[in-house]
Amino acid sequence: MSASLTNLLDLCPADARSALLTAMAELRQPSYRAEQVVRRLWINPARDFDDMSELPAALRNELAARFVLPRLTLAVRQTSTDGTEKFLFTMADGQSIETVAIPDGDRMTFCISSQAGCALACAFCATGAMGFQRNLSVHEIAGQVRELAMLVPPVRATNIVFMGMGEPLMNWRAVSPTLTILNSPEGFGIGARHITVSTVGVLPGIVSLGQRPEQFRLAISIHAPNDELRQELMPVNTKFPLADVIDAAAAFDRRVTFEYVMLGGVNDKRVHADELASLARDCKAFVNLIPLHPGGGLGFHPTPRDGIHQFANWIRDTGVEVAIRRSRGLDISAACGQLRVEKIGRRRELTAS
Ligand code: SAH
Repeated sequence: MSASLTNLLDLCPADARSALLTAMAELRQPSYRAEQVVRRLWINPARDFDDMSELPAALRNELAARFVLPRLTLAVRQTSTDGTEKFLFTMADGQSIETVAIPDGDRMTFCISSQAGCALACAFCATGAMGFQRNLSVHEIAGQVRELAMLVPPVRATNIVFMGMGEPLMNWRAVSPTLTILNSPEGFGIGARHITVSTVGVLPGIVSLGQRPEQFRLAISIHAPNDELRQELMPVNTKFPLADVIDAAAAFDRRVTFEYVMLGGVNDKRVHADELASLARDCKAFVNLIPLHPGGGLGFHPTPRDGIHQFANWIRDTGVEVAIRRSRGLDISAACGQLRVEKIGRRRELTAS
């Protein structure tokens, strides 16, 4: 038994190709065999090496003795009346994570998880209440997209949002190669502008994301427009205070979206709208208002519809762009209470090129 089989799904396509080329050379196989396998990692995902019927059987066995292609186990699949689907995957160590697929016209947005649990403990968030279990590895994050592509019939993503469980910028080591897999033509080939990383404002992570040459999008969970209130709702504000987060957003070379979950009587007054608009203006951000998903945080109530519209108008009147996110999958959703399945609202910036 070989001590360590190489996990091809933890590697960027370029690194997987190198590993495969080395193996093919050792096995006296032509190099196009490596290309065939690369195609079966993400583009036309194989269930296992035996599934690669385009390869000679002996070669499939040789590859299985050197490499692994780990799977996630689909434990639950729930479909909402609005077409949104939620998937619960179990990983090798028994931890589970959620993925949501949100159809909208010719778009299919996947909301994916980057950690099992979360360390940030935002007051209104059910994942926060679970505590942190562990970081996901590359094959577990990209694997969520891969597994759905292997369903019969396949469910394929046109857009990705890192708005599932966890804080993606506290797992940059795995999220960065995953972004490559999602975006690369040898991976899922999803345009960088269709991939959004959502963060509470982890400063080093924002810098790292900004250093990537691709136009990945950044969404920042603001949720409170001053330190006093933000401190109460988001303990991470002690480590990364609002002013620093706003500076980082301003320094980011692409347009940033502010996410703002509407908590009735807590952050939805006129004064909050004015403060939020002023922050958004400082870094030319687009504001996305999120109705609180029921079943989420304990002790919070959603701002009523009219109140959200009023709040949006206050912001719009200052010249800042704002949208209200439509809640999706309400009937299945919050079933775990933790995964927020609201879709990214129809926003100009998503369709602009
Ligand atoms: N950790 C990252 C990404 C995961 S959460 C982040 O915080 O941005 C994705 C979004 O869902 C965040 O804006 C989060 O604040 C929001 N969210 C959490 N609980 C929610 C709830 N009950 N209703 C609506 N949105 C919620």
